[in-house]
Amino acid sequence: MKQTENLIVGLGIAGINLCHQLDKAGKSFLVIDRCPENSSSLIAGGIYNPVVLKRKVKSWKVDELFPFLVETYRELESQLGVDFLLHDFPILKPISSANELNEWQQAVDDSRLSPYVDSIEKQPPNGPFQKSVLVSTTIKNSGFVRIGKLVLAYRNYLQEKGLLIEEEFNYQEVRAEQKVSYKGISADRIIFCEGRFISENPFFNWLPFRPTKGQMLTVRVPESMTPDKIYNQQFLLFPTEQKNVFRLGATYEWHNLDETPSQESTDELIERAQKALNIDFEVLDAQAAIRPNVADRRPTIGRHPEIENMFLFNGMGSKGVMLAPYFAKQLVSHIYEGVELDQEVNLNRFGKRYKNS
Ligand SMILES: Cc1cc2nc3c(=O)[nH]c(=O)nc-3n(C[C@H](O)[C@H](O)[C@H](O)COP(=O)(O)OP(=O)(O)OC[C@H]3O[C@@H](n4cnc5c(N)ncnc54)[C@H](O)[C@@H]3O)c2cc1C
Repeated sequence: MKQTENLIVGLGIAGINLCHQLDKAGKSFLVIDRCPENSSSLIAGGIYNPVVLKRKVKSWKVDELFPFLVETYRELESQLGVDFLLHDFPILKPISSANELNEWQQAVDDSRLSPYVDSIEKQPPNGPFQKSVLVSTTIKNSGFVRIGKLVLAYRNYLQEKGLLIEEEFNYQEVRAEQKVSYKGISADRIIFCEGRFISENPFFNWLPFRPTKGQMLTVRVPESMTPDKIYNQQFLLFPTEQKNVFRLGATYEWHNLDETPSQESTDELIERAQKALNIDFEVLDAQAAIRPNVADRRPTIGRHPEIENMFLFNGMGSKGVMLAPYFAKQLVSHIYEGVELDQEVNLNRFGKRYKNS
């Protein structure tokens, strides 16, 4: 019988952050993942943005999440020997109307936003912008994680250490008594991090997940599109490691929840980008996956209502890169030190649903 403290199911950005915090706390773990070629974490943009651009307010808990996010991904970069974090990579927000300009001026003057929003440029931004773009502002402290690169590097790291079992997890074979046992493994507890596949988990499928499909494109852009910014205006456009090749995203769909990219979503993304950019994009690739969103748009983590040694770490929605580091640390402190989970993320907020299920 293989012994471990923590049996983890799922190695996306949630599972990776959890493993990292367990590792740092000196706790043992073993991971089961089917290691797909496509998943939400493998194809995500990986952007973290401290400002909700539509409402011009700070993103939820950003002052706590951000310092921890940067520290965590830097630790992982040095542990894995791979560069994937582009921190302090500004987001350029084109402004196309006097009304919008006025709203952004108020945001720039708001002291709560000042660590994150720069002054407004008086000139139209450099680059192939449409004439309708009047000026621009810049979001600071933002950036992105080349998240597919991180997932593949972490998989390798665990494989080399013999800590990753590459297979489909079979829920029928898990027994949670004094210890959790599963196919010759004995663990103190099991922690599920399966992202959108929570719908197949008989222990947690009563939670109100509302998954959304998202599509990203890889596109060729002209030289005049400088690779030193993330461009954000109802679309996200940001550089890859290849010259003049960017990624463009992302769509939101609540139906047709499969992982197949569609021509319709490709057209939608190009159309949105062309409202601000005067570019004939050459589409090189399209990818789609499903985000694990929850009805109240908060992570959903914690202990099963009745099974003491069964936990969930999920619900990262559209912001896995920002949320997973901080809440992985919180869950590990909760398990080992009894630290309370934030009520906003504790899955017990849906307790009534469990009783009625
Ligand atoms: C198009 C798109 C763009 C996005 N852009 C951003 C962005 O810019 N910034 C950002 O922060 N977030 C973004 N996201 C959201 C982000 O991808 C998610 O928040 C995050 O990936 C969720 O991670 P996860 O680990 O919970 O799930 P996943 O990445 O889905 O990982 C779950 C893992 O569990 C495994 N698994 C599940 N069930 C089983 C089973 N039964 N047996 C074995 N293995 C199993 C799967 O194989 C998978 O590897 C985007 C998402 C999409 C789709």
